[in-house]
Amino acid sequence: MNTQFTPYGEIVENLENYSDMVDWFSEVGLIQKDEKTNFYDEMNYYKEIINYRTLLRNSFKDYLQSNLLLDNLLEITNNILLESKVHPQIIYKNDSYILEFVPASTMYNVLLTKIAIEVIKLLNSSEFKYLKKCDNHKCSLYFIDTSKNHSRRWCSMEICGNRSKVSNFTKRKKNQVNN
Ligand SMILES: [Zn+2]
Repeated sequence: MNTQFTPYGEIVENLENYSDMVDWFSEVGLIQKDEKTNFYDEMNYYKEIINYRTLLRNSFKDYLQSNLLLDNLLEITNNILLESKVHPQIIYKNDSYILEFVPASTMYNVLLTKIAIEVIKLLNSSEFKYLKKCDNHKCSLYFIDTSKNHSRRWCSMEICGNRSKVSNFTKRKKNQVNN
């Protein structure tokens, strides 16, 4: 979930059109290479996905900052699942039985449905309580802190954690010199 969710925030920022979105979904493994993603209504689909992303961000922000419930997000997400006729299917994969959610309708925004499915899995998971916003306030990313003692502070050590790491290293060096 974490690997799918974190890059969602990062990479979706750079999505300028529907075909960028298809590339991203393929990259994170949410669609298969041969899956049908071309539709006559791509411009609208694109806008719907961008709007849903904004809803997600705002909902998580209110949830973490103001303790607001996710009512609006739930209603819209449930509606997407209903419209695309998402239904549970049991699948045998890697030696175990896995519950999957599959859309029955192909007349609906497939990519939007796929995000909605990831959202319900996330909300339903025991790890959702570890939802955090990146400590860097210039960064707008959310992540699930699956670290051992749940003390992770940044979306990515490479990007946002690095500045802090560098400054800590400098402090340690100074202390060593002083000691
Ligand atoms: Zn960050």
